[in-house]
Amino acid sequence: MENIILIAAPGAGKGTLAKSLKSKYGYVHISTGDLLRDAVNKGDDLGLRVKDILASGGLVDDETVYEILKARLKEDDCKKGVILDGFPRNVLQAVKYEEILSELNMNLGVVIVLDVEEELLVKRITGRRICKDCGEIYNIYNPMMTPKKENTCDKCGGSLYQRSDDNEEALKSRYATYLEKTQPLIDYYQKKNNLYIVDSNKDINYTLEQVEKILNDLGDSSD
Ligand code: AMP
Repeated sequence: MENIILIAAPGAGKGTLAKSLKSKYGYVHISTGDLLRDAVNKGDDLGLRVKDILASGGLVDDETVYEILKARLKEDDCKKGVILDGFPRNVLQAVKYEEILSELNMNLGVVIVLDVEEELLVKRITGRRICKDCGEIYNIYNPMMTPKKENTCDKCGGSLYQRSDDNEEALKSRYATYLEKTQPLIDYYQKKNNLYIVDSNKDINYTLEQVEKILNDLGDSSD
């Protein structure tokens, strides 16, 4: 399977898409945000260092992110094919990623951009709820994504929580950071001819269909 990089504004649905691709095809989903949040929850040195940055919506320093990403990519399961969600976040990280990949003998793969109108992001962010046990993602404003029982995961019965940065104020800063730092990656990968833009303004099934078509055309998703 091709490795995949997902690029999109906060709230566009990278995590939801990655989870669908993971369960259908067995990709390994690597979210640098999840890895950092795990550290915050554990309260280890790294977690204490990044806690306030995550809550404010700013970016963690590049070296820290390379370290946690590289450690995860070295694990055996990543040979199957990985989906990167939340990395790279800027052009410097993209350049460094290629160094890491060549060290680990892995391919860059494809880059998929989820295109979403700005107005939709607020609802997707402020309505997002996540299962604390299995990570399933819900949205209380989207009838297709509401849990059957309030605050309870349909899949495992775990309780749902809201991320500390899933509020309008932090979104403003996260979105500004996306426009300034992450969006230039679109140009960067367009020049490498491995970039696909997907309309992600509708539901997850519509997004998934388009992504599957791209992967099928590359002769990939059946591997
Ligand atoms: P996410 O779950 O991708 O929205 O990430 C949540 C937060 O984790 C971001 O707002 C950043 O503070 C931090 N973060 C995640 N990935 C990166 C990255 N590649 N570079 C720097 N900071 C990151």
